[in-house]
Amino acid sequence: MGFATKAIHAGQDPDPTTGAVTVPIYQTSTYVQESLGRHKGFEYARTQNPTRLALEKNLAALEGGHTAHCFASGMAAIDTTMRLLRAGDHVIVSENTYGGTYRLFERVLTGFGLEFTYVDTTEAVNVERAWREKTRMIFLETPTNPLMAVADLEGIATLARDRAARLVVDNTFLSPCFFRPLEWGASIVIHSTTKYLNGHSDSVGGVVVTSNPEDAERIGFLQNAVGAIISPFDSFLIARGTKTLAVRMRQHDENGRAVAAFLAEHPKIARVHYPGLPQHPQHLRARRLFSGFGGMIAFELSTLAAARLVLDNVRLCSLAESLGGVETLISHPATMTHASVPISQRERLGITDGLVRISVGIEDVEDIIADLDAALHLM
Ligand SMILES: *Cc1c(COP(=O)(O)O)cnc(C)c1O
Repeated sequence: MGFATKAIHAGQDPDPTTGAVTVPIYQTSTYVQESLGRHKGFEYARTQNPTRLALEKNLAALEGGHTAHCFASGMAAIDTTMRLLRAGDHVIVSENTYGGTYRLFERVLTGFGLEFTYVDTTEAVNVERAWREKTRMIFLETPTNPLMAVADLEGIATLARDRAARLVVDNTFLSPCFFRPLEWGASIVIHSTTKYLNGHSDSVGGVVVTSNPEDAERIGFLQNAVGAIISPFDSFLIARGTKTLAVRMRQHDENGRAVAAFLAEHPKIARVHYPGLPQHPQHLRARRLFSGFGGMIAFELSTLAAARLVLDNVRLCSLAESLGGVETLISHPATMTHASVPISQRERLGITDGLVRISVGIEDVEDIIADLDAALHLM
């Protein structure tokens, strides 16, 4: 079955009682049992919900995983995954991740005895150098947020396998439409479903897709024990979103390439970060690992004032955090998504004050380019 077919049909069987073609929103907290110990597989709604289950089956199929479990947010998905570890364990992390991930690791989980080392994951040797006796997990975001660096997934997966550590990939930026990390040796894939999977900027959620039954069982246990579950309504919205994932991603990719090409030619722009551009340092790797480059682009203006001028003067592009929706969003990582990353760290990573990030939507691309062009002309 092809990806677009799976996106529409996997887990989305017609409702058994009515034949409803769309899985209903089962807005219930509990389920009547026929007699003591006899039920239809649903006991209590934190533990099981049919709307959530349909979404989980859908997402597991799209990533090619064993099982998926959905959560109240991307952060809840990441937090639950980290509970596979124990105090004293060490994790090697991509050095520029979503700011909230860095905050969770540094300001919450270190307090519970987990240790984190951040490295440039574009080279597997950096991961190898950071390895410790207690390293139990590698956590990659690829392409990274916001600089779009592409991790050496093949080298790092080999290392993780040889040393029996879990390889976790945050695949929020490309979605399974363009990249399926489990096929390259990752053991767990995470998404903020808030982004491309939902795709319409109208819900918050997260998912953990596991490749093996042991992790699947433990994540399922933690989903119920910790309880950071997604609601039936949000499950419905995300399942509605994934049905059009393939067509949306195709358009995000087409528009992303056109906007990146426009920005790369622009005299006021020092540098464009987009894995689809031939000058991107990991362009060839991106072509091997990904079947599309998506709609996330970062570009560098010379100063904060220049970035502010552009951000304040776009009309069609909306100034907002988040990404992956049908509408084009534009943001300023240094003061928005990455404000929780210390300045010294930001500077080292290249998240400069002039850096602007765009989540290219699926409007007519001529309109997106005209809007950016008009704002850039004011500089
Ligand atoms: C948004 C995002 C998250 C966090 O997800 P929420 O749904 O906002 O909790 C994690 N990783 C990446 C790459 C993100 O873009």
